Amino acid sequence: TETLHIVGGGMAGSEAAWQAAEAGISVVLHEMRPATGTFAHRTGDLAEMVCSNSFRSDDSEQNAVGLLHWEMRQAGGLVMATADRHRLPAGGALAVDRDPFAQSVTKALKSHPNVRVEPGEIAALPTDGHWIIATGPLTSGTLAEAIRTETGTDALAFFDAIAPIVHHDSIDMSKAWMQSRYDKGETEEERTAYLNCPMDRETYEAFIDALLASSRTEFHEGETAKYFDGCLPIEVMAERGRETLRHGPMKPVGLTNPHAPDVKPYAVVQLRRDNALGTLYNIVGFQTKMKYGAQADVLRMIPGLVNARFARLGGIHRNTFLNAPTLLDSELRLRSKPNIRFAGQITGVEGYVESAAMGLLAGRLAVAEITGRRLPPVPSTTAVGALVTHITGGADAKTFQPMNVNFGLFPPVDLKGGRRNRPARYKAYTDRAKADWNEWLAADLHRSVAAE
Ligand code: FAD
Repeated sequence: TETLHIVGGGMAGSEAAWQAAEAGISVVLHEMRPATGTFAHRTGDLAEMVCSNSFRSDDSEQNAVGLLHWEMRQAGGLVMATADRHRLPAGGALAVDRDPFAQSVTKALKSHPNVRVEPGEIAALPTDGHWIIATGPLTSGTLAEAIRTETGTDALAFFDAIAPIVHHDSIDMSKAWMQSRYDKGETEEERTAYLNCPMDRETYEAFIDALLASSRTEFHEGETAKYFDGCLPIEVMAERGRETLRHGPMKPVGLTNPHAPDVKPYAVVQLRRDNALGTLYNIVGFQTKMKYGAQADVLRMIPGLVNARFARLGGIHRNTFLNAPTLLDSELRLRSKPNIRFAGQITGVEGYVESAAMGLLAGRLAVAEITGRRLPPVPSTTAVGALVTHITGGADAKTFQPMNVNFGLFPPVDLKGGRRNRPARYKAYTDRAKADWNEWLAADLHRSVAAE
């Protein structure tokens, strides 16, 4: 029989290993910890939760991540079953007692007759055999380099860049105004997509001084400070020259301040609508490594943002992920080396649950391939299907950024008459998803029986 090799025993790799082992496939799971660590992991356990201990909402009728929980439970997922056993009280969220959780996953896999856990780092891309690479956002440097050599420089990103997000109702509209640059946009929605905060020369100079003096979060050891030019932190731009921001994200062109039409602003900070409701705006191009307290103080120097409330402050995080829309096929295989699948955060999904879900899918697809079966495509009406459809086809490759599961990724439901409110819509999404997921699982089961 053929062996399935899985690289990385995190959320995705552990789930993929379980799915394959339970289907009777022999699995070798390669994990570099504890001999080689990352800046975020603390233990040598499989499926270690690196930061929060939450799997987020467990509501499978009204929430897309709760639906993902449901789908994984239906598929006999190890990560969900173990999380349920080590659940902590947390209202509607699924919070997990992290150490016993990771220890249980480790024990379940190490004691499985079809699994061998092989310690050590994999440093190169394998040339033959069946492989799943699930090395996560902190993929070791040597393997990342090998992936980059195979896929090209633009195809593997190393950072997420998050710009601060402000509540619209905390912005002073006697200072700020709505306008898109050069009045681009046809519809009302497009014209209200941007909001502008003007600066005179004195305010700009004081703002630059504050940026230069601000305290910053250091990169963790091993989290190398190698940025892409498109996402330099604003304080680093300021260090490159006092005028850099005025020629970059703060350029004052194509805009007229209705509060003072005759005065040309020296610089303009732009905010872009961040949600359909228009309640949140992000500050365009303002990714930053400033510490949270310092960051809020510096940003409140911007006219119009003096009383700003922040929904989320900015940050830049290490996150290794592929440009999946160009590199992976709909079965998560690397187009240029189809014996290799990718799974987990490295495919451009975001979060523990999403990563485990992509592991579950990759594991099942690998089993089908090894046993010579073809599975029908996962319906894009399911949470697993919506995610994989997004990363391997639906998303725009040019602006591809990691994605959490959400109902915006699902094909719309057609609701009749008065059932158009949001709870009814979400319930319709989840009912449809559950029926379609069960059908897909049944097809998988049916075919595996038929192949025996
Ligand atoms: P991981 O769980 O990281 O597993 C990858 C595994 O591969 C690791 O065990 C690693 O040791 C191993 N590995 C790496 N390279 C090699 C190699 N060359 N050879 C062998 N083994 C290798 N998501 C949330 O939902 N909530 C959070 O609070 C959260 N916080 C995060 C904080 C940080 C600092 C980071 C980096 C990410 C965070 N994430 C969070 C995002 C993400 O969902 C998790 O990192 C999740 O664990 C990803 O699952 P994964 O299986 O893809 O990767």
